[in-house]
Amino acid sequence: MKKKKYTRREFIKQNSLAGGAFLTLGATSSLFAGGVKKSDTPAILGGPAVRSNGWPSWPIWNPETDEKQVLEVLRSGVWSRSKTVAEFEQKWAETVGAKRCLTTVNGTNALVCSLANLDIGFGDEVIVPPYTFIATVQAILLNGAMPVFVDTDRETFQIDAEKIEGKITSRTKAILPVHIYGLPADMTRIMEIAGKHDLVVVEDACQAWLAEVGHQQVGTFGNAGCYSFQNSKNLPMGEGGAIVSNDEEFMDRCYSYHNLGGSYGSVSGAPGAGRLMLGNKLRLSEYQAAIGLAQLERLEDQTRRRSENAAYLKSQIKDIPGIAPYKLYNDVTRAVFHLFPFRYQKEEFKGLSRATFLKALRAEGIPNGDGYSTLNNQPYLEHALSTKNFQQVYPSHMLDFDNFLERNQCPENDKLCNEEAVRLSQWMLLGNRSDMDDIATAIEKIYNSAEKIKQSIS
Ligand SMILES: *Cc1c(COP(=O)(O)O)cnc(C)c1O
Repeated sequence: MKKKKYTRREFIKQNSLAGGAFLTLGATSSLFAGGVKKSDTPAILGGPAVRSNGWPSWPIWNPETDEKQVLEVLRSGVWSRSKTVAEFEQKWAETVGAKRCLTTVNGTNALVCSLANLDIGFGDEVIVPPYTFIATVQAILLNGAMPVFVDTDRETFQIDAEKIEGKITSRTKAILPVHIYGLPADMTRIMEIAGKHDLVVVEDACQAWLAEVGHQQVGTFGNAGCYSFQNSKNLPMGEGGAIVSNDEEFMDRCYSYHNLGGSYGSVSGAPGAGRLMLGNKLRLSEYQAAIGLAQLERLEDQTRRRSENAAYLKSQIKDIPGIAPYKLYNDVTRAVFHLFPFRYQKEEFKGLSRATFLKALRAEGIPNGDGYSTLNNQPYLEHALSTKNFQQVYPSHMLDFDNFLERNQCPENDKLCNEEAVRLSQWMLLGNRSDMDDIATAIEKIYNSAEKIKQSIS
């Protein structure tokens, strides 16, 4: 079927003739004041930018509402883990709909701790997507387990669940799905596969606070769900992380592990027995939790705003040829947008490279990025395979790096990372509709001038 082509201006005209029901007041003024009408010369070639005012800054901090509890904590001198951390944990468990929550120093170590306490370690294989933040894979390696990469579904940016079963071996112990960009992975299918093959599931929800599949929050489907509260994240506290689960004994082990193996709940020994488990020290600080509690107050409203703006932006760019916004799986009831992703197809932009497209978009006042690089072929993997522990445990063919690369090819993900992916930051979605219109207008402007840009910039 031939794609319907029209310019944004024609589109706007059509809609204003039809009564303008489509456009909000903000959108109308922005489009006609600062949009394509002003100048068709792209900013990268010296024309005026679509947008000269900036974007909402991040993180958001309101001294009047946010500082009371933080100051109380600071002045108390009780800075190490105590009642503020416990309060945050209780609120986060309630918010996501899990029985228990344990905070950690960061999301990376929420993953490390979860895998360790689900007995994932040396000799085991863990299925993981290559389209993620590096921490996901490092968490597997730090426990001595072997990552097994399953290719990406380019339309959704998530692990392609249909390719998981083909990668299961006698060593496979766990699936580590990532809800990348805050768009839920195909949890229905993943849980089905995990059930059939008796696999542990640890969800990397480090970008997916409040995201839902079938009205159930992600992070609560698997044996454990892990979150990050790093500064750029939608619930920021500088550094911080959390594990949620309904499995009380697992959570007791996680608590003990995060406190250097001390007794906790069902992890208990004879009086005076001392430390009970191999452990680490991963405790969150009181003032971090106080910042988190302040941020938690605004998370729901911000999430709603991002989702509304994302849906609107998607509707505004989806018909531009060569722009393919993210798709969601059918049973997703909420996506939360740590980033807004779309795929760029240069064939529709007269062969203009993605790098030049992104540069042109930045010149129009629209910051952006090209997403993750391929994680299934980088030097850190070769280093991990060469370490003493790995060398002791795995057979030589599994440690051979060429063999590893061969086993872990992900051609769809290569295309996504190297050619197609474009992403916009979450704070850009906190504005109003006219901000979204600026983004759409800038993309359309570049589309219309693609030939001109290509000829001027080689
Ligand atoms: C941020 C992030 C992590 C790690 O969280 P930190 O708090 O930065 O350690 C893990 N996985 C994904 C997908 C992330 O985005």
